[in-house]
Amino acid sequence: MGGGGPGGIRTHALRVKCPYCGSEDVEVVKTWGMRSYSVTHYRCRACGGAFNRYRDQGTGREFMLRSGKRSSH
Ligand SMILES: [Zn+2]
Repeated sequence: MGGGGPGGIRTHALRVKCPYCGSEDVEVVKTWGMRSYSVTHYRCRACGGAFNRYRDQGTGREFMLRSGKRSSH
């Protein structure tokens, strides 16, 4: 496959922020692959919110989607 993406970014730890409260104190719950995406499921330690980060391994683009509810009280 062709290049053209950002070179050599492999083992960089990306800084992930909670989309609910903006905290960086998040933990990885699990990761899996979906088609060309690698998906990481996070949970925020600060507010308990859960979200997924999708990363397209072809283009390197990524985005986050909220999942679950932050406080189910
Ligand atoms: Zn949070």
